[in-house]
Amino acid sequence: MCEPAEDLYAVLGASPSDSLQQLRHRYQQLARQNHPDRLVGQSPSEAAAALQTFLQVDAAWRILSDGASRRRYDLQRRAQELKQDWPEDSTLRLEDLTWDPGECLYTHCCRCGGVFRVSQEEVEEEVEEEEQQLPEERQRGGVVVCCDSCSLSVYVTWLSHSRHFRDSPA
Ligand SMILES: [Zn+2]
Repeated sequence: MCEPAEDLYAVLGASPSDSLQQLRHRYQQLARQNHPDRLVGQSPSEAAAALQTFLQVDAAWRILSDGASRRRYDLQRRAQELKQDWPEDSTLRLEDLTWDPGECLYTHCCRCGGVFRVSQEEVEEEVEEEEQQLPEERQRGGVVVCCDSCSLSVYVTWLSHSRHFRDSPA
């Protein structure tokens, strides 16, 4: 299975800033309107379209109703958006960052003089989530990191199966 192509918020007619209650409300409305039980008497093509919508709405709600999976989806979505209009040099490989053993942080200097910081904890959390996914759903891992003094952000990536940072970060 590949990345869900559609925007899950758009599927629910909702916005990423909506609360869980608002999302639930949208979900219940759409699920009711398109529920298979209500399709009796409709033409086959209407019924098929409604069923398709029902399944999409249900799948979107499953992901967005759970705090952890919503957070993961939001990050993916954000990373996706950023990657689309990012210059190539805004993507960094984790192994190119400088390891700070005192703080357990990877750092990289921003051109403004500020610093991008990625904690080892953040990377490990992300890797653990990746490991819970099926191998065919795994993608190259990565996190979006903001500069601590300007508005620039970079996308820091690593190879999903590379564990170098756990052993002896360079
Ligand atoms: Zn900066």
